[in-house]
Amino acid sequence: MAWRSSGATNSDLIHNLEHHGLIQDERVKKAMLGVDRAHYAPAAPYDDSPQSIGHRATISAPHMHASACESLLPFLRPGSRVLDIGSGSGYLTHVLAELVKPGGTVVGVDHIQELVDLATNNMGKSAEGRELLESGTVKFVKADGRLGWPKEAPYDAIHVGAAASEHHKVLTDQLKAPGRLFVPVEEGYQQWIFVTDKDEKGESKRKKEYGVQYVPLTDAPK
Ligand code: SAH
Repeated sequence: MAWRSSGATNSDLIHNLEHHGLIQDERVKKAMLGVDRAHYAPAAPYDDSPQSIGHRATISAPHMHASACESLLPFLRPGSRVLDIGSGSGYLTHVLAELVKPGGTVVGVDHIQELVDLATNNMGKSAEGRELLESGTVKFVKADGRLGWPKEAPYDAIHVGAAASEHHKVLTDQLKAPGRLFVPVEEGYQQWIFVTDKDEKGESKRKKEYGVQYVPLTDAPK
């Protein structure tokens, strides 16, 4: 699945993802067409594979970014508040912002200052990205994402871009009712995507989706 969708340009890549059924929704397609991955991936930006961004982090594969957006989509509306934990390159943070503007906000959290700076810098490479930063639609902060970002909670949608060693209850606590959490979690030697829905009454239900390989959600390196 991973390599078939690679393209020569950003538009090629997105259309190939759509052709292979990895993007199904027009809104996700439009948002991903609106963000050039070359601003976020230092090499081979239009390959459908993860790429190293330094500091033992990777920008996830485009099909994973598409899958996360498709999953969270009902909670990504103009005006929605979103938390992107393990924001790394800032690519997905930008795509999420495209899906919640106007009026929405996305907070990108990473525990490595250099990556917070990298994401901010990457977003500054395009006029659209600069506008998102200047308007406060997007901001990047340095923090331990295992604690969420309580200051701006509750969120309509929370995305976690690194594999958690446990189900951190605090993340579900920071969801609105209704709201949705998308998080990879380790089970033994494997990692799975879990999607937790909190309903209007505040009750949460967790679903195990599919196996993945993410960078771990860990202590910050010393
Ligand atoms: N969505 C990002 C994924 C980056 S890789 C992208 O596609 O670019 C995962 C990121 O999670 C790394 O940047 C890493 O620094 C960050 N991370 C790992 N543990 C973390 C923690 N406890 N708190 C915040 N960020 C963390």
